[in-house]
This record gives sequence, C-alpha cells and structure tokens, in this order.
Amino acid sequence: MPEGPEIRLAADKVAKVLVGNRVETVNFGLPQLKRFESRLAGNSVTAVETRGKAMLTRFDSGLTIYSHNQLYGRWYTVRRPRMPRTSRQLRIELCTRTHKALLYSASDIDVLDEDELQKHPFLSRVGPDILDRALTKPQVVERLCDPVFRNRSLGSLYLDQRFLAGNGNYLRSEILWASGLDPQRKPAGLAADELETLAEETLRMARRSYRTRGVTVAPALARKLKADGLGYAAYRFYVFGREGRPCRRCESPIERRTMGSRNLFTCPTCQPLQMPA
Ligand SMILES: [Zn+2]
Repeated sequence: MPEGPEIRLAADKVAKVLVGNRVETVNFGLPQLKRFESRLAGNSVTAVETRGKAMLTRFDSGLTIYSHNQLYGRWYTVRRPRMPRTSRQLRIELCTRTHKALLYSASDIDVLDEDELQKHPFLSRVGPDILDRALTKPQVVERLCDPVFRNRSLGSLYLDQRFLAGNGNYLRSEILWASGLDPQRKPAGLAADELETLAEETLRMARRSYRTRGVTVAPALARKLKADGLGYAAYRFYVFGREGRPCRRCESPIERRTMGSRNLFTCPTCQPLQMPA
C-alpha cells in the first residue's frame, strides 16, 4: 500500500512535466468528468500537491483536479507521442506540448473549485500532510496535544489520516521505535521531552523515507548494511517486518503485534511500556 512518501514521489514526477506548462488537451475516462475537459484545456498547472494519498493538480483558472490513488491508482509520465505499456483503465490524460501525465485505475476523481475543495469530504477531514515542507516540530507537538488526539494510543493515532495525512503502516513502526515509545502509550502520558522527540522523529522518518525512496535507516547505517551484502528489503527498516531479528540498537529480538488490524513491530527493550524513571 502506498504511503505518503510514495504518493509525494508520484506527485513530483507529475509536477516535473506539468507545473508551469500549458495543458493543451485533457481527457477523462469517467463520463461524469467529460464536461470539464474543455474548461481545463488551455490553462496552466500551478502546483501538484498531496494530502495523504490524495493528489491535487492545481490550474491557474482556479480549478483543481482531485484524485485519490486508493490502493491501485498509478501515475505515469511520458514524452509525446509515447504511451505507457499497460492494460489498466485510463482515467486522466493531461497533455502538454511535449509530455503527457496519465493516471490509471483510480476511480475517486473530481474537478473542484476553491470553495468545493474546502468542503470536500476527504480533504476537510484529513490532517496536514506529513511531507508538507511547512510543517514544523512545534505544530506536530501541538497536534499530539490536541484534545481530539491526546488520549488515543500512539499505535492507533499513527495510522489515522485525520492526525497526519500520508502517515502509514511502515512509518508508524519506524517512528515509534526511533522515538523509544511503546505504541500503547498516549500523548497525554508523555513527558515534554518525549513529545519533542516523537515530533522530531515523525518529520525525520517521513522526510528521509521520501528522499531515499522508502529507506528509513540512517544513510551511514544503510551504507554499512549494504556493504555487508544485505539487499534492499533486508536493510531498509529498523524494525518493520523484522520479527525475531536483532534490534539494530540493542540486539533484543524484534516483536510483532497487531494494532488497528495492521502489523506493528517493536523492540521490547528500546520501547518500554513505562516511562523510564
Ligand atoms: Zn532495541
């Protein structure tokens, strides 16, 4: 399942061929969107933003294409006149003079003006995007301390898109391990320095995973593990998917549990249930 960093990478790819360019033709695969084709054509794309798994392609006319990738949506970019080799269903085709950006398979797509964006059922509910460059550590701390979130367990909060959009299953395990926090603990029970560390690791892990295309271990350690002959799947995470393997910090065997119906991995030594005395 794609998480924030993967969607942001797809958005970057689309932005590279569209932003600042005039879209000459627009083609929608869904009949109810056909009426927007001529309204969007001829306008330029100003930005490609993400809100969790949703992508917003903004036009200078004030209209925005909202697309949610769900589990199977996939963006391609190609130089014209090439087309991607795929048997998937074409949903959006945006053509500039030189390139095409194409979305396949996703079905949750809409064209919205600014007012409709504000009221959109998904967008109005989700929290700030975990990869938003403007998101700061104090803002994450503030969100953790919000009455809506402060009494929730970290394990459930870190899958909730209303808390931070773009957070996901592997990031949850990696962030909580890096912060030394058991997933059953709640923001309300954390000391000030624990909240600080958690906010810092939240931003650090998400941004690193985006930069490295899905690797959360620190660059120096990743290099060492690669030099030791480990493949991508074996070196990329600290704890996620590493049940029974030694913790990379203390060598205790990593444990697996289920929280929010998804697998969660922890180190029993590095992430004690009780606040250290
Ligand atoms: Zn450990």
